[in-house]
Amino acid sequence: MNYKKIDFESSYFDLFELTDGIHVAISKNDSEVKTSSGIFDLGNYLIIFDTFMYPGGARDLYKAVKELYDRDPSFIINSHYHSDHVFGNCLFPDNIPIISTPITVKKIEEDVSDQLKEFRKTAEEEIQRRKEMLNSDDAPFGEVEIHNDIEFYKYITNPDFKIRLPNFLINNNLTIKGTKRTLQLIPYGVGHTDSDIVAYFPNEKICFMGDLLLANLDDSWAPNDSGRFSAFNPSKLYEILKSIIEKDIEIYIAGHGGISTEESVQMNMDFIKKYYLKN
Ligand SMILES: [Zn+2]
Repeated sequence: MNYKKIDFESSYFDLFELTDGIHVAISKNDSEVKTSSGIFDLGNYLIIFDTFMYPGGARDLYKAVKELYDRDPSFIINSHYHSDHVFGNCLFPDNIPIISTPITVKKIEEDVSDQLKEFRKTAEEEIQRRKEMLNSDDAPFGEVEIHNDIEFYKYITNPDFKIRLPNFLINNNLTIKGTKRTLQLIPYGVGHTDSDIVAYFPNEKICFMGDLLLANLDDSWAPNDSGRFSAFNPSKLYEILKSIIEKDIEIYIAGHGGISTEESVQMNMDFIKKYYLKN
């Protein structure tokens, strides 16, 4: 795998070029568990894949697009409804369409709005806690992260903050033939959530998986009290991964954990098999 880190100043993510015109931003912030977003140059279209949770992450993503290509993205893709992939939507101008599935829109309207209410309820308390951490010697996070958290809670409690909903909706595969390269958006049904889109470049053999893939899904994610792994329907997720791994792909971008290979997809399948599938 040949990819390189790009010189780009951000306290939220590191930026990598996978191949000319396909970039991935991987968050540094531990509370975002290394979330990834993509920047794709199709020649005549520029595309953003997922917009992070933290306002600064989305802002820097926007800045990275401008720095790399000196123009606005043509459209944005939301892989699925979870807040860590869609909260940044509203940092982009309204005239840039956002693509997702209709189910993702419905889930943002229902579940994410509820989650936002919960975040807002505890925001003041959380901001206070973070401020105390800044003066403490044994804070659980670094200073940059604490400031990012404070900015996040201020951002979502601003009465003007509204989650921007996707407005270009797809139910089936969508192939976008750019002047430089072709991108396939493939929506999958119930698995990680009720609906997830992957972004697949067949010629470059690169696939942005959203949270259908977690880069390092080892036993520490096991489903117990502290287990972090959650899938809406693990056995269906297993079937989705099984069909994706059959494609000709060299680089898989995990929704969390970054740049991965087939080995990682296999690891996810083994994990699901071990903890969820009955033989
Ligand atoms: Zn996620």
